[in-house]
Order: sequence, then structure tokens, then C-alpha cells
Amino acid sequence: MLKSVCGYCGVGCGIEFSEAKLTGDTQYPVNRGTLCLKGASQLISIKSSNRLLKPQIRENIADGFKESSWQESISAIADKIKNSPKGKVAFYLSGQMLTEDYYIANKLGKGFIGTNNVDTNSRTCMSSAVVGYKKSIGADFVPLRMDDVQKADLLILAGANTAESHVIFHNKIKKAKKNGLKVVVIDPRFSETAKSADIYLGIKAGSDIDFFNLISKRLINEKLYNEEFVQNRINGFEALKKGLETLNKYDMLKRTGLSHEAFEEFFHLYKNSKNIITAWTMGLNQSSQGVDKNLSLINTHLLSGKIFKEGNGPLSLTGQPNAMGGREVGGLATMLGVHLGFDEQSIKKVSEFWNTDKIDNKAGLSATQMMDAGLEVLIICHTDPIYHLPNRNKTQELMKKIALVVEINAYDNSETSKFAHIRLPAAPWGEKEGTQTNLDRTITKQEKLTKRADGVKADWEIFQFLAQELGYKKEFDYKNPKEIFEEYQAMTKLNSYMDISEASYDELSCKPFVWGEKIKNFLTADKKGNLFFVQNRELSEKATQEYPFILLTGRTRDQWHSGTKSANAPSLLKYKELNFCQLHPNDAKELNIKEGEEIKVVSKRGELLTKAAITEGILEKTIFIPISNTEINYLTNDLLDLESFQPDYNHAAVRIVKL
Ligand code: SF4
Repeated sequence: MLKSVCGYCGVGCGIEFSEAKLTGDTQYPVNRGTLCLKGASQLISIKSSNRLLKPQIRENIADGFKESSWQESISAIADKIKNSPKGKVAFYLSGQMLTEDYYIANKLGKGFIGTNNVDTNSRTCMSSAVVGYKKSIGADFVPLRMDDVQKADLLILAGANTAESHVIFHNKIKKAKKNGLKVVVIDPRFSETAKSADIYLGIKAGSDIDFFNLISKRLINEKLYNEEFVQNRINGFEALKKGLETLNKYDMLKRTGLSHEAFEEFFHLYKNSKNIITAWTMGLNQSSQGVDKNLSLINTHLLSGKIFKEGNGPLSLTGQPNAMGGREVGGLATMLGVHLGFDEQSIKKVSEFWNTDKIDNKAGLSATQMMDAGLEVLIICHTDPIYHLPNRNKTQELMKKIALVVEINAYDNSETSKFAHIRLPAAPWGEKEGTQTNLDRTITKQEKLTKRADGVKADWEIFQFLAQELGYKKEFDYKNPKEIFEEYQAMTKLNSYMDISEASYDELSCKPFVWGEKIKNFLTADKKGNLFFVQNRELSEKATQEYPFILLTGRTRDQWHSGTKSANAPSLLKYKELNFCQLHPNDAKELNIKEGEEIKVVSKRGELLTKAAITEGILEKTIFIPISNTEINYLTNDLLDLESFQPDYNHAAVRIVKL
């Protein structure tokens, strides 16, 4: 029997594999034997017929691919990199990659090619939380664990549909509810998660900052904040107080769309709850003010002192299985590695560690900036930017201009493959080994469960092959992922709070390692948390007469992103319709649209066909289309948060056309 970890979401459930059967690991602390349907179906995906198994190459994207060899493909990529300015080379990585794969790609890109354009699709999910945490508590550090919900009195879920996106964590919430936990769900949509809420607050899309500012204002005005904590451990109180004084509470409440009674019912529960956790995900992060939304939420915990205490704190729920590992290693273009930045001291430390003098001192391009940067070479690994970047028509036109697009993927049905010049077949989950960090800092090892398909390579081998072809044979001479992990472990000592040297690679699948458990204080230079005054600047696209609806996007329970894996598992497909558009009955009536009728949804940027799903569970003039509709980003807009560069996926103005 082998133990491993699920490769889908940030919860990171332990699994057991025996005689070709996969079950939940009863000993694993995160899930204690349970798995969601998606996690339980992973073996089906790797056996699917749409695997990419041979390198492929073509001159122009209008041509068909021809089979290539690994040597021919890697030489072509290396030649193009050697002949391109380093700033025109970029790596577009993924939260699906393992830590060792991330480490090698980051070391090659930033350390030896000399480009900091090494970023990840986590940019589109979590970068607002990264910046929020760094500004307020001093580091990209999640200051509590999922199990803290068992010790909390109140859990606020803001823009987070845990029942569909973090299923096993949602089970923990339901269990904690039996022991007295109260749950408040804040979402413009009465989601599956809202069904288990004690209080559901259907706030208007884009009003999260107003909501959290209302809490902070009340805490200050009614002297409900923790004065001693704020005085001794927090900066920025006076500025926040003054800032909030300038905001009118009636205007803020009006923008949220909540009634006075609804807010008062919530606040009564809030002020009488001793231990509070506020958890959030894409509903807040994916916004043109994503960082500010994070800060307004974290402010409430800094004011109340409900942080670094059991059952308390701001809990960012990461979407992907190893988004956290990628962030730790340096998979964001805005970080160098092990949470170090591009300051002189950090560059010196990392240069010495890698024995290189090629590290550039400027942050690189984020994944959301790469298409528009006139790149010569773009290497995309285990992700599908044509599908997931906003404003797809524009993204497609920009990607066509990149001289060499390389796609590393285990599957051959991505949307991006239509724009690639070289495709390299990679091993998927189950055919490779390495480590990943889940959403609450648990490092576990994925094990190789089945024989690797002939002709494919692990990601680290692909990046190592490329590094050696570029002339870095000595620097990239790893025999296995364990050697890479141990080098990364040594590197974590460059940043004291990141040190994971106590973890043992060989034991990780049975004995996961939780890093940062001793951290009980802010990681800022003065060891104090930072409050920030932020206000709703209403930067998102506005509804107009021509485009009167606001589009929300999100996951469905049994699907994963574009569905290259999950849409191949028939057991997943039978449960839920993937192509639907939720709209309010009053809007449907006005447009004379019936349940299940085919409709067209149109934004300034593009359109898609879908089916009407009429429900009272969404606010009027707001619609929801799941991201399992692979055409979703023809509609979304490419406004970014200017600090995190995360897109505003949850606020596109659209109209509905009855066909
Ligand atoms: Fe996998 Fe997430 Fe489901 Fe757990 S909750 S089984 S990690 S997809």
C-alpha cells in the first residue's frame, strides 16, 4: 500500500493506493479517510485517451504538429532562448506543479537565464492574498490552520464557496457546526455553502470593502476593539480611525445592499463571539481591488486581536494543490525565492547559494502581464492561459505574436495547445513524485503510483534538460526529486522563518511536515501588524443600459478548471451540468426566458452560448456562469489589481440575449 496526496485542490487530502484502488487515508490529519468525488476519480484521468505522449513541433500555428524527439525539441527551445534578450523570455508555471519542479524552473529562469519573468497561474487566484498578508502581517504566511474551525465560535466565509471548491474542508465546517460553530456566508449568490450558514448575507458584488469597513468602524466607535493588543502590537490605528471617520456608514451599508436589520443581526453575533475566523478566496481576491479587500478583512482581526490565537485569524483558502509550495519556492515573478525579494541583500544571499551572478534586480512580469510584453519565448507548464486568462479574444491575438510558445502538459486537449509551436509531454499526478504544500502549510509527498507512460518526463527533468542544453550541466545535475528537495530545504535557511530542514523527504507521504508552526507573532521588521485604511473605489466595470448584468464566475464541485483531467472522468460528469447561467426569476421574466432555454451572454469583449438556470439564489441583475464553461473568459475583462496584478474575474458587465 502506498500513501500519497490528492493533486486537485489546496485542501490536500491524504490518499492510500493499493491494488489499483484509491481511497482516503484514514490516518491523514487533513481528511481522516474521506475524499471528495473529484479526488477519488483521479486515476481515471491519467488513464484517459487524451494524454500527450510524444514531443511535437511546428513552425507556424496554422500548420499541423509533427512528431519530434526530445533532443530536437529541447535544442530548438535552447537556441531560441540563447538568441533572445533575457527580458523577452518567460516561464508561465502552475499551482499543479510540484515544489521540486517549481524550484528547478525558478532556479533556471531567475538564477541562470537571468529573467525574473517566472510566474504562475496562482497569480490569477491568490496573488491579492499574498500581497495582503505581506502588507499586514509581514509575510505571505497563513497564520492559522483549517482545524482551527473546531475551536472557533464564528466562521465568516466571504466570497468562498467551500461546499464546491474545498469539499473536505467544508465537511470539517459542518462537523464543527455540530459542536456549536456559527457560520456566516457573505456572497451575492446563495451558493451551496450558503445552505449550511446560520446567517446568509447576500451582499452586492464589489461591496466587500464596505462590509469589512463597517465592522472596523463599529469596533472602533463602540470601543469593542482590543485596545491593549492594538497599542502594543499594531501600527496604523490612528490613520485607520481617521480614514473610517470620513466614510458614511449609511452609504457603505447601501452599497452592500444589506438591510440595517440584516447587518445588526450579524454584528450582534460578531461582537458576542470570542473566537472568530474569517476565510475567503476568489470572491475577494479576483478583483481590481483584491488587495484592498484582503486588507479590509485582515484589519478586523488586527483590531480585535483575533490572530495568532487558537480558533482565530484570517484564513486565505488557496485553490490549487501546490499554489503555496510555488509561492514558497519563488514561483511568483514578484519574489526571488524562499519569500525573499529583489533587494540587494536577498540577491546576494541567493546568488551565493546558487553560485551565480545572473540574477536581475527587478521584479519580473506577472502571468497577467506576459502576453502584452512582446515576448520572444514563452514556456507554459501544466496550465492553460488561453482558457483562464481574462478577455480571451485579446489574449489569443497577443499569444499569436509570441515567436515561440512551448506547452508542457500531460494532456493534449488544452485550449493553449492551438497556439503552441512545441509541445512536450509531461508526467501527470500519479506518474511522478515530489512534494506539495496545502493551504495551511502542510508539506506532503505525492508518490508515483503507476508506471510512467512511455515517452513522458517529469517537469524537473524537462527543465533540467533545457538547463543542460543551455550550458548549465554542473548546476543542474540532479538525479531525483529528493536531491532537489534537499537543496530547497537548505535554501529555506536563507530566510529564518521559512526553515524546513527538519522535514524528511522520505517520510513526508506518511508524516507530513507543517512549516511555520512556531510562528506566533507578526513577521514585519518591528514585529507589529499593520492596519491600512482602504475604501471601496468602485474600480470595476460598471453595469450600463447596454450591459445591465454583472457576471460572477466560480467553480462547480466536480470539475477542475478547463476539465482536461476532470472532464474525462465520466463519474464526475453525470452529477452536474457544466454549462449553465444562473439568473434571478425577475430578470428571466423581464427577458421572457424559460428554465433550460439556450441564451447568449455578451460583453464588450466577446460572447458565449449557455443555458438559463433560473434561481432565487442570486441577486437581481447579477448572473453566475461556472468556470467549467471553457469559453467563460470571452466575457471577462482584463482589469487588474495594480498591486497584485490579479484580474477582476468577478465583475464583468454583460447582457443576456434570448435566442
Ligand atoms: Fe482532493 Fe480537494 Fe477533494 Fe480533498 S477536497 S479530495 S484535496 S479535490
